[in-house]
Amino acid sequence: MGPMTAFQQQIQTSSAALVSDEPALPVPIDRVRQLLKGLDRRQRQAVTHKEGPLLVLAGPGTGKTEVITRRVAWLVASKRARPSQILALTFTERAAAEMQQRVDLLVPYGQTDTAIHTFHAFGDWLLRTYGHEVGRPDDPRVIGRAQAVVLLRDNIFELGLERYLPLGDPTRFVGALVDLFGRAKEEGLSPADLAGYARMLDAGARAALAPTSQEDDGASEVIAGLLDEAAANAELARAYEAYQRLLVEHSLVDHGDQVVEAVRLLEERALVRMSLRRRFRYVVVDEAQDANPQQLRLVRDVVGHGGNVTFVGDDDQAIYSFRGAAAQGLAELEADYGPVKDVVLRRNYRSRRPVLDAARRLIRHNDPDRLETRRGLDKTLTAVRRSRRPAPVRHQVYGTASDEADGIAADIRGRLQGKTPADAIAVLVRTNADAGPILASLAALGIPHRFSGTSGLLSHPEVREVLSLLRCIAAPQSSEDLYGVLTAAPYGLGGEDLTAICELATRRRRSLWAVATELVEQPGLLRIETASRRALERAVADIRASLDLAHAEPAPRVLYEHLGRSGWLQGLIARAETGDDGPLRRIARLFELVQEQAELVADPRISSVAPTLRALLDAGEDPVAPDADDLQGRVAVLTVHQAKGLEFPVVYVAGAAEGRFPVRVRRDTLSLPVALVGHASADDPDEQRAEERRLFYVAMTRARDELLMSHAVRSRPGGRARRPSPFLGEALGREADAAPLETDSGLVPLSPADAPIVRERSDQRIGPLVVSFSQVDDYLSCPLKYRLRHQVRVPTPPHHALVFGNAIHQAVAAGNTRRLRGEPMPLELLHETLDAHWQSEGFLSQEHETDRLRAGRTALDRFAARVTGDGDRIVAVEQPFSVRIGEDRIRGRYDVVRETPEGVVITDYKSGDVRDPARARQRARDSLQLQLYALAWQAEHGQAPAAVELHFLEGDVVGRVTPTARKLEGAQRKLAQATAGIRAGDFEATPGYPACDWCPFRRVCPAAT
Ligand code: SF4
Repeated sequence: MGPMTAFQQQIQTSSAALVSDEPALPVPIDRVRQLLKGLDRRQRQAVTHKEGPLLVLAGPGTGKTEVITRRVAWLVASKRARPSQILALTFTERAAAEMQQRVDLLVPYGQTDTAIHTFHAFGDWLLRTYGHEVGRPDDPRVIGRAQAVVLLRDNIFELGLERYLPLGDPTRFVGALVDLFGRAKEEGLSPADLAGYARMLDAGARAALAPTSQEDDGASEVIAGLLDEAAANAELARAYEAYQRLLVEHSLVDHGDQVVEAVRLLEERALVRMSLRRRFRYVVVDEAQDANPQQLRLVRDVVGHGGNVTFVGDDDQAIYSFRGAAAQGLAELEADYGPVKDVVLRRNYRSRRPVLDAARRLIRHNDPDRLETRRGLDKTLTAVRRSRRPAPVRHQVYGTASDEADGIAADIRGRLQGKTPADAIAVLVRTNADAGPILASLAALGIPHRFSGTSGLLSHPEVREVLSLLRCIAAPQSSEDLYGVLTAAPYGLGGEDLTAICELATRRRRSLWAVATELVEQPGLLRIETASRRALERAVADIRASLDLAHAEPAPRVLYEHLGRSGWLQGLIARAETGDDGPLRRIARLFELVQEQAELVADPRISSVAPTLRALLDAGEDPVAPDADDLQGRVAVLTVHQAKGLEFPVVYVAGAAEGRFPVRVRRDTLSLPVALVGHASADDPDEQRAEERRLFYVAMTRARDELLMSHAVRSRPGGRARRPSPFLGEALGREADAAPLETDSGLVPLSPADAPIVRERSDQRIGPLVVSFSQVDDYLSCPLKYRLRHQVRVPTPPHHALVFGNAIHQAVAAGNTRRLRGEPMPLELLHETLDAHWQSEGFLSQEHETDRLRAGRTALDRFAARVTGDGDRIVAVEQPFSVRIGEDRIRGRYDVVRETPEGVVITDYKSGDVRDPARARQRARDSLQLQLYALAWQAEHGQAPAAVELHFLEGDVVGRVTPTARKLEGAQRKLAQATAGIRAGDFEATPGYPACDWCPFRRVCPAAT
């Protein structure tokens, strides 16, 4: 065996540290007892399971999250593992954050470094930490589905496509290709697997072809079909391979690769695998029924046969098989882990008995393919919340879809006029489209509501207006887009004047832009109102200014300037301040997309960014499930997928008609060969029906007290009659009513005058907060600044200092990562990383940008000279932390942590131009950031670092301070002051000097001084 590499040494050292045989401390019995208090027998069994694999089947409302968090706390309290030796995996950021908060409340102060991640974040962490071992870049950029679609669209002719490249509409299959590649990754299939399958089919068909007689038409047909299938799969394999090549060339990684590549890493590098197994002695997987085959494989690689893994889930709530998840994996755990102990949680703490009985009647129709049957268990839920006369589950039939929506809205109005708060009510629909009539009826009655299942940003007028603006700046001759801009809020042209301007353009056969500019120069051409003329003049002036900027400046800067100059942004902020913050949030999201896209394409100017935005938005984003804050004081209208994990006292399940729920699932445009997938495909009609039934089950079990299901006989008057959903009959245990009651037809007189009484929306937040240093700092400098930047996320202008700071920061991080691995840090690496992260944004001129780039290189040269051979041992680079301090958590990232002869030193790099050592020291002494970081380190490690320092890269000076108890107490007080204000919803502006002078919102802030 050759000498150990630095990497191997590092792993050995850290692993040894992690498993060091510390003398076992006595188990605090009282604490353990406290943790088990209030749990039922089966929950206790799950929480206190000692060694080996465990499957906890946790039906709806059985306290799944409670079991997971108490298990983590119990493992710590009973000294089975330190928090850092526990890995908890889940699917959404929100679930991870909720789990973290609940673990914090249970685990002693200062012991909260349990690794709680989503699968994607865990894969990402593995690749960033160990990816170099298998030749992967250290910091790839992660892209979502929409960006993958744009990437393929832009390179469509390089994918080797023929049959999937219809020349009349070359991009028709792009979305389907991205989905196919995503599914292939979830199944662990590479381009080579797909190509191999195609070759096998082809060879088999050709072998069969030889002896087949010409007369045997049937056989010839089959063989022709096989050859065709082989050719199609060969083409898909080529495109898949090309897509992977594009990702590598652009240093990108998609969500599928975050898991697939992490699996490859673990399977190719036994040393990494061993290190992880020694580190994570206990692994907990939440919502295990939704894990796809690759995610299950990742868990197996981390845990190993017979390891301490706890899967918590419920196959009856598996509703993501269209993404590749398959509860089947849970049925076959023994194959990977050996004997698995089952614990079934059966006490339901959420719903009344009638709801549970109906839900069970329904789900039993999925037998015998349920785990309950396959593993010979009993999952019958018993209701803990008993009442003498619980409301029965109701089914209502309406004449038409709009009758149904009106009926539901009227019923809700009645409840709101009673004592039911709006946020106690949810209307669940199967698809986004089903929500339309419900939203219209709620709006007609003035009932506050929130629809979470987005049908995309594009459905909102303000987003379409800003898109028109971008296209108009890219090509002002586009009359349609200019029309969209002129009618948008800042200009507000309309009525007869706008019609007259358009007619003039038509008569003269000129574009709207040509006529608009002419009218500004020759007002006598057309008689219009003075206000309209002024609006037109402003619009033309604003667009001209943007056209000038757009030649040289990147899209985000041009857009930001236009929104600020025209008063567009100020108008949106004013609306937000009156409580209507939706439009501002959506424009902020669109702005982020423009920024992301500008970073992705070779030319960041509007002319190349604008055309791709529509495709990006068409490709759609994953709608984010709402949180309790979003729903406060409003009726929730949700798709069933979005409602998972939520509960409401009153739940309406609307649109329960055959063909709508179960929805007729369209076969995927492109699908993987069943022979390669090896399990029931999502295209299988029986599997589709079972999945729809599970969705219905999830919808029903969101209800705590009342469940009201409904359907309409016809979608519109005179339309085709529809039967009730078969799930209604299955749930009710009898034939569902098929005809509307007399009184149901058009029975609801809608009148805004009957507006319901609704509780005031409160901005107050409960529970622990997770804040970063910049959030604390912004809040303390001006609460409104905090709200605009962190809650509403108002876009801020691109600034050269940010470009400079980010690029130099990345370069230093790349260098320090090499040092961490014990490798040399070549200057070329620093310069190349600087260039890779440099963006030509926000600079005053070309000369300015050139100067700054040169200054960045010089700063890196000095950095290299300073740290080379300093003898310090680097312990961590860019290490994220999230630590409980008092009631809340502070999160952040240590730029670098070193072990020096004086002890641990935490350094934060600054790109600001401080050159005087005394001033650097003063800045370090005054830095709330350093104090908070020292506080976080102390909470995590039991003692404060020996020193914290600011390293000013451009001036090459370091200001270092020793954290004192008094300073740390002061920092903690400031943190508590900020979180108390945020929690209380106190966002009143505190304008003044210097806050407003340095505030990025001063141009658009109504309170700025
Ligand atoms: S401009 Fe001044 S008042 Fe307005 S958010 Fe910024 S700091 Fe607060």
